[in-house]
Amino acid sequence: MTSKRDAILNGVARASELHTQLGVREALASGTDSVDVFGAAQRLGLFIMFRPLDGLLGAYVPTRALCGMLVTTQRDLHVQRFTAAHELGHHMLEHRTLSLDNDVGFVGRGEEAKHDLQEVEADAFAAEFLLPRWLIVAHLNRQRWGREHVRKPDIVYQLSLRLGASYAATCWALFSQKLIDRGTVEHLRSVEPKEAKQRAVPDVHPENWHRDVWVISDKDRGTRVLGAPNDLIVLALDEHTAAGYSWDADGLTQAGMTIERDDRVAVDDKRIGGRVQRRLVVRGSGETHLHLEERRLWEKNETGRSSFDIDLTLVGREPAGIPRAGRVLAA
Ligand SMILES: [Zn+2]
Repeated sequence: MTSKRDAILNGVARASELHTQLGVREALASGTDSVDVFGAAQRLGLFIMFRPLDGLLGAYVPTRALCGMLVTTQRDLHVQRFTAAHELGHHMLEHRTLSLDNDVGFVGRGEEAKHDLQEVEADAFAAEFLLPRWLIVAHLNRQRWGREHVRKPDIVYQLSLRLGASYAATCWALFSQKLIDRGTVEHLRSVEPKEAKQRAVPDVHPENWHRDVWVISDKDRGTRVLGAPNDLIVLALDEHTAAGYSWDADGLTQAGMTIERDDRVAVDDKRIGGRVQRRLVVRGSGETHLHLEERRLWEKNETGRSSFDIDLTLVGREPAGIPRAGRVLAA
């Protein structure tokens, strides 16, 4: 390895190889989820231990008996995931020395980026492993978002949630994958995610804005939300009220969700005229499957006009210890 450019190319190449080896690309091709980095590390036989580390985000620990990583419990899940991907990078790139990481970054930042080439390599691996171009494009296609959309902070924030990455990491990934230019990344970075959250729920006033706000539509049918307890979830679903149909909110209470708001809003759609959207703002915690049916409420036992299914994993950051039982990647 001779230059920073080589380090970045090498990190990216190893991440792509691991996607292939683990079947990650096939499993996520339709943009239904984020990359399961903890599960990937465990499948390679690495140990992962979450600890309240003092002044460190994580460490790669290559002992002869047991090889693996420590990851802090003191940062949110997005930082834990990026840190684990960085430590996984040290392993895949065969950096067989202890690495104590107090800063894991993103490639493409420019002059301020770090100079230790092994760290550059591990960062490039992490960014590519969690935020490869094909996965970003899969989510964009599912949501029918194009080039114009990825210039908008509210859209980039919603994209970041679906990728399981921070807003900042997502901005840099869009830039380094050449989906936006440097001027746009600087504009996006000048906007706080909090503003995107507030715009998504102008009618809700939580005690703080640490929680995330997911805006879920028909296009998210069959996907999985990986969030934290008490994230606000805005379900915005078309409702055929003129024909007597409405979404039955029983599915929400059965899934243990709390309904914060329940409204109907007229949506102006030039192509098909006015339509009505049911807008439910809900919150909950833990792992649950949400199943909603749109039907005539006097026909409780009939099959509905349509249904909406989504998996909710509202568990937040990993606590001290080994990872919570991970998802099983398609082998
Ligand atoms: Zn490192």
